[in-house]
Amino acid sequence: MRVYLPRLGLILLGMVALGVLPARPSPTCCFWSGCFFRPVTASSAMPSSPPVSAAVLARDARYAADIRDLTPKLIEIRRDLHQHPELSNREERTARIVAERLRALGLEVQTGIAHHGVIGVLRGGKPGRVIAIRADMDALPIEEIRDTPYKSRHAGVMHACGHDVHTTVALGVAEVLARYRAELPGTVKFIFQPAEEGPPRGERGGAKMMLEEGAFDAPTPDAIFGLHCMPTIEVGSIGYCETAAMASADRFLITIHGKKVHGAYPHEGIDAIVTAAAVIEQLQTIRSRRIDTQSPLVLSIGSIHGGNRFNILADEVRMEGTVRTLDPDVHARIEPLMRQILKGVTESHGASYELDYERIVPVTVNHAPLVAQMLPTIRRIVGEGHLVPTRPQMGAEDFSYFANRVPAFFYFLGVGNKTKGITAMLHTPDFDVDEQCLPVGVAVMAAMATDWLESAAAAPSPAVPAK
Ligand SMILES: [Zn+2]
Ligand SMILES: [Zn+2]
Repeated sequence: MRVYLPRLGLILLGMVALGVLPARPSPTCCFWSGCFFRPVTASSAMPSSPPVSAAVLARDARYAADIRDLTPKLIEIRRDLHQHPELSNREERTARIVAERLRALGLEVQTGIAHHGVIGVLRGGKPGRVIAIRADMDALPIEEIRDTPYKSRHAGVMHACGHDVHTTVALGVAEVLARYRAELPGTVKFIFQPAEEGPPRGERGGAKMMLEEGAFDAPTPDAIFGLHCMPTIEVGSIGYCETAAMASADRFLITIHGKKVHGAYPHEGIDAIVTAAAVIEQLQTIRSRRIDTQSPLVLSIGSIHGGNRFNILADEVRMEGTVRTLDPDVHARIEPLMRQILKGVTESHGASYELDYERIVPVTVNHAPLVAQMLPTIRRIVGEGHLVPTRPQMGAEDFSYFANRVPAFFYFLGVGNKTKGITAMLHTPDFDVDEQCLPVGVAVMAAMATDWLESAAAAPSPAVPAK
């Protein structure tokens, strides 16, 4: 029955498109549930969703049929990438496969951006604006423990953050949209990014470096979409945040300087360990007393080292930690507040300090009007009830560098399946996805890109570049 329902849906949609059947009361296309017709009821109808034209529904059906045929290939690509994970700034094989596939689809391809970054440009047959789609490609230094036919073949390296899925979804979107390029009003720029997890120590890389090396040069995107796997969301659903989606990530190194002395005569020296203890306690007051309790903030010290003998006071303590925020204004306040506390506490102990504070990744903030514009598209594809408002993540994403340049929407692709036992979190050795997330991911992103281009073309402004 599941096999035939979509065909029935296609036929009926074709009839709608031809005006044989009325488009209202409108059916709601639901890619995930396997049905193309889900009658809109009073409870399911969303007043915020604009009416969907028969042409759009017919296009959804064409895309859905193509994606259904493409799914075995998507699974094959994802499994190949999963078996051959590559660490940040080492994505040579992945980048080569991506570039080959994009060239085979007829896209203009640039390689070697920020080491192994790849850009594919799909120019539509009609004039319009430029939408970018970003996928990251790197894996993590984790030993995979889940026993699957597609388990990592590289000891100690694993796609534990699902970037194999992100890459596969973007390739799938490129394949579907390339088939309909003549109809596309504008350009789709695919950005395959290396080193999202952070380049190795002493190297540069990732989104920031891609931008420095011209990732947003002609054609310059007018907006950008990105997604991330989320095992806490069941496959078939999409999670979203209206504004902040992912936290900022900073790294700091504090060095407390004291004066070494015999432990029996502490008054003759300056105890860096006692000073460090006071610093640790006072730094937590930034969270509890200095920043609005409604604004999420994490300040964690993950390592502390000082001293070398039981009866000698330490003259130096080094502490490393991280700061995470969801508000750019809060983000900007943390380093000055830390310096204020460090200065006051160390002076009161007769000690001194150094603070090496590094801002690694800004907050990923979605463009609220863009989110509002795209939610009806996602709802149309995954079905009512499969679009879930999600709390922002305290993990960070260097997609934020792209989002700081143009309106952006970064959303979460459900990959979990409690029934199948697929629940492990990102960055764990038993992380996996339900591969049915692949067609869902392609369907949602392809529809979003097409809808965005069509709506931009329908409301042109002087900013639209001449082609
Ligand atoms: Zn990750
Ligand atoms: Zn990731």
